[in-house]
Amino acid sequence: MSTTRVLLVGAAGRMGQAISAVAETTGDVDIVERVEIGDSIAERIRNCDVAIDFSQPDATAQVCDACAAARTPLVIGTTGHSSDQLAKIERASAAIPLILAPNFSVGVNVLFWLTRRAAELLGAGFDAEILEAHHRLKKDAPSGTAKQLAQVLCAVRNLDYDKNVVHGRAGVLGERPRDQIGVHAIRGGDVVGDHTVIFAGRGERLELTHKASSRETFAAGALQAARWLIGKPPGRYSMENVLGLTAFQ
Ligand code: NAD
Repeated sequence: MSTTRVLLVGAAGRMGQAISAVAETTGDVDIVERVEIGDSIAERIRNCDVAIDFSQPDATAQVCDACAAARTPLVIGTTGHSSDQLAKIERASAAIPLILAPNFSVGVNVLFWLTRRAAELLGAGFDAEILEAHHRLKKDAPSGTAKQLAQVLCAVRNLDYDKNVVHGRAGVLGERPRDQIGVHAIRGGDVVGDHTVIFAGRGERLELTHKASSRETFAAGALQAARWLIGKPPGRYSMENVLGLTAFQ
């Protein structure tokens, strides 16, 4: 079995450490380069088969440029990118195979699928709201996963994210518009990551909940994505591709 050589960006962080720990248990992945703030990626990437980034959005430009120049596949787990940073990622995917996923757990990717199906089956008569909870040190809100859940709902209901998605509520706002999707972010303690999609209708409510209890689940998924990406043609791929969920559309 050949060993996959990985360059890891954000290596000293919570996720960076979880990825190093899981990689050690796999036997077929070697984290050969650990990159932190201030380190140059371009010099170190030549030695690697794939790069994994779990850092901060402002690392994106450097990571994308270095991977595109070296033609190295890239897995991005970092969340909270601006639209300019997302455009940069899109441009890089013309040169290299790339996965940007807000959540690498199998369960959350099934939650995306279930949310789409539930929204289709229940119809617009059910009000949809999203709740997420994370540890007190998380920097961005709402979570990338909550945003993707809102995007799934917008796609099914033909809604515009910027117009129809609201973040929290306060004040005398009047009745809830039918075509609104509320997203609510809770921060506290050491919560690894909880997401609930609520479909509230007349006389009944359906709730879909995922709870992550360990970062290992994200780390194992990111390593699976990294192995899967090697040898693929340039382009944007998703965890649904990696997990084969596209077969169940
Ligand atoms: P963290 O703050 O513990 O770690 C981030 C690390 O990145 C730190 O060590 C920091 O020094 C380093 N870093 C910051 N800027 C850098 C740069 N320019 N170059 C190199 N290194 C840099 O954060 P975390 O909890 O490990 O989360 C990291 C990111 O991953 C966040 O955006 C978080 O939302 C996201 N995340 C994604 C998933 C997923 O499944 N996709 C899961 C958990 C967390």
